[in-house]
Formats: sequence, C-alpha cells, structure tokens
Amino acid sequence: MKYISTRGQSPALNFEEVLLTGLAPDGGLYVPETLPKFSQQEIASWTTLNYSELAFKIVQPFVGECIPADDLKAIIDDTYVEFRHPAVAPLVQLDHNEWVLELFQGPTLAFKDFALQMLGRLLDYVLERRHQKVVIMGATSGDTGSAAIQGCKRCNNIDIFILHPYQRVSEVQRRQMTTILADNIHNIAVKGNFDDCQSMVKASFNDKSFLPEDRQLVAVNSINWARIMAQIVYYFYASLSLGGPMRPVAFSVPTGNFGDIYAGYLASKMGLPIDQLIVATNTNDILHRCISNNDFVKHDLEHTLSPSMDIVVSSNFERILFDCYDRDGLAIGDLMTRFQSEDVVLSNSAFASLNGLFDSYTVDDGQTIKTIEDVYEKNEYLLDPHSAIGVEAARKVRRSYDVPMITLATAHPAKFPEAVMKAGFPHEPELPHHMSSLFSDEERVDIIENDLSKVHQFMNEHISS
Ligand SMILES: *Cc1c(COP(=O)(O)O)cnc(C)c1O
Repeated sequence: MKYISTRGQSPALNFEEVLLTGLAPDGGLYVPETLPKFSQQEIASWTTLNYSELAFKIVQPFVGECIPADDLKAIIDDTYVEFRHPAVAPLVQLDHNEWVLELFQGPTLAFKDFALQMLGRLLDYVLERRHQKVVIMGATSGDTGSAAIQGCKRCNNIDIFILHPYQRVSEVQRRQMTTILADNIHNIAVKGNFDDCQSMVKASFNDKSFLPEDRQLVAVNSINWARIMAQIVYYFYASLSLGGPMRPVAFSVPTGNFGDIYAGYLASKMGLPIDQLIVATNTNDILHRCISNNDFVKHDLEHTLSPSMDIVVSSNFERILFDCYDRDGLAIGDLMTRFQSEDVVLSNSAFASLNGLFDSYTVDDGQTIKTIEDVYEKNEYLLDPHSAIGVEAARKVRRSYDVPMITLATAHPAKFPEAVMKAGFPHEPELPHHMSSLFSDEERVDIIENDLSKVHQFMNEHISS
C-alpha cells in the first residue's frame, strides 16, 4: 500500500514511512493511493469476530508488507487491553432504531484512545526494529494530549512533549496527563493559550534545527494517517452488531478536525453499506456551512461547552476535498493556499459531491444542555456535551426511521462536568471506579513562559540519550 499527498507534489510513501511523519513536504496530508475494498460476503463473514479480530481484518491491508501478520496481530490484541468494557465499543439503545456507540471506554475516557493506543504500539514496534528514537511533540486543549501520553507511556524509543495552556484545561484533563510519571513523558504548561501552544508545535515542525541530529519529530495530531486507520474499525463493528452489512446503518459524528467522520467515509468506500453520514458541529460551524451552503469562510473561534470541537479550520477536511476534486493535487494546493489569505468557495462539482456525501447540522450550547437533560430524563443515560451534539443532530436531520441511527459517543460525561451540571444534574458525574485515585495521585508538570526558545531549551535538556 502506497500513500500519496493531497497536494500531489511529494513522493509516495509506504506505511512505515507515513507512520513516522506528519504533513507531507508539499504541505498536503497523506492518504492511501487506493483503498482496500471488501465484498458483502466477506464483511458478512466477520459477524462472529470480536473487536480486535475485526480490527486486524481492516487494518492489515493498510499496513501491507510493512509488519508481518503475526506481529501485527499481537500489536492489535494489545491495543485494546486497557479498555474497560469487554466489547471495547459497546452500543447503548436510546429509542427505536436509535443507538449510541460508546467510544469512551479507553484509559482517558475519550474516543482518541482508539487511535492513540494503536499508534503508540505501532511506533514502538517500528522504532525498535529500526534501532531509532524519535521525539513526539504535540499541543492539546485536553483530550489529545492525555490519549497520546497514555498511548506512548511504555514506549522506550519515544520522548514525548505535550504542551497545554497553563490553567486552561480542566482538572480531569490535566491530571490525566500529569499523573503519568514515566521518564519519557514531559508535560509543559505554557503560559499562553491553546493557539500559542499549537503555533509552537507548528514552528518546531517547520524548523527542526533545535533537535539532536539523530532524532526525527513525529506528529500525534489527527493528521497522522495511522490514527484515521484505527478509527475505521468501529464503524464496521457497530454495523455488524446491528445486522450489517445486509442492513444499512447511519452514523452521526460529533466533529471538530474531521478525523472521525472521515474514517466513516472511508468505511463506506471500503464496502460498508452506510445510508447517511451526519457531520454534527457546535457553533464553530465552518463544516456545516461548507457542506450545506458552500460557505468555506473562517470565523473567529467561539468557546463552547464542547471544547474538543472548538476549531476554526478542520485539519483533516483537506482529505475529503481531495476526493471531491477528483484527486487533483494541484487544485487542492491552489485552493488551500488561497484559503490562508482570502475567502474561497469550492468549485461547483466539488461542492455537489461534498454535499452528496454528508448531511450536517449545528447545535449551540443551549440545545446541547437541553439534549443532555432530555436524554437523561427519558433514558437515565448521561451524555457528555460532544455526544449530545451528535444525538441532537441525528434527531434533526435523519432521513429514515427504518435505518438504525448510531451516534458516536466520543467522551465520558465525567470529563465535562460543567455542561452536565448546567443540564441540572445534581452533582458532578462520577469518574469510573478505576480512576478514583486521579485526584490524589502525584503530578509532574513544568511551567514555561510563552517563548519558543525556552520550550526548545527544555526539550533539549530532557531528550533521552
Ligand atoms: C477530538 C474530539 C472530537 C472531534 O473529533 P475530530 O476527529 O477532530 O472531528 C469530538 N469529541 C471529543 C470528545 C473529542 O475529544
């Protein structure tokens, strides 16, 4: 399997190479040159597989020759050991043909564990074989950082530096990062906001001269292809649990950077019968505006009750645009360059194809709270604010009540107590039992000025030899 850049100007890479990079040198994102396709019979034959057996079937063609099958099997089996629910991704029923897929059973209580538990293990395997060490640097407003740290904490060949804005992540989110005391894990609280953190990471990828010569810098944000790949699996798993592939299903996906919903689009291209894919956004709604109205104009960031979806621009959107522009890398390069500095619209044909692939809906904070309240009242089931946006969008724009509608529940409600309390819940939602020591565990974090040279100096002093 080869991976090509969405801007068409970089050489194709194999899986191992794509695993160890971030953006392509031409500024594009890597995508598979061709997708594996599964027949209905083949998918139907997987109904009896458990989650990790199914994951192997779906992931193997993307990895190809790069990892021998037995080793890949072992990596995948290990990926889900820290998920608390034996089904890994259990379904919960809310109403007739209305379901929630719980993707928050992993160690950090958000769906990002699916991608990062696998990514950390894949990286460690490949690095061990190459006798190579790398540095991971990432910025987080909460969920990504903790999932990356949990995914990489055992990896001897990775030094990981996660920047978060000082005093601007929730206590649960901070403690999920700072209580992991492994020597290769470094939490940097930057005296600035999330954008400052992200700019520092971007600048570091653009000029890597601060690193020791033998180190490569690896991205763990959702532009990393392996993260997307890991997320395709649960679309198949949910469908197979509800009568697929004979019976088509629909998905509603709380969306920020477009990684999760893009994995659903790929599942459908690989042969899974999906009747409808709904992009659910909060009031940071560039995706909804673009999909419904070809309005691809940046607005200022709004802080909402669903902070993991607070984005101005979705980094993975370029991957779907690449397909909507019939994989014309030059057109994408031109569009994305102009998008930086001016208002752009998609071509008529690209817009038509995007609009045909997805439905979309925006849910504001008031409606998010109402949905949490409503579902709790009817089902005694507590949604987190991100998942509530998915459920509400599904209720507003679903096309058929005969097709099972599955909303991806992306986080556990205990991660976002503010929204849950606003919905009238009488006390803070409880953390799962295994995390009961989170608030008393020892923390380790370094607070650093909003100054890139200070951050680089710190990293240099702490990169292992
Ligand atoms: C990251 C995140 C999202 C958004 O996912 P994307 O792949 O960026 O679209 C939604 N909900 C939660 C809880 C998240 O952590």
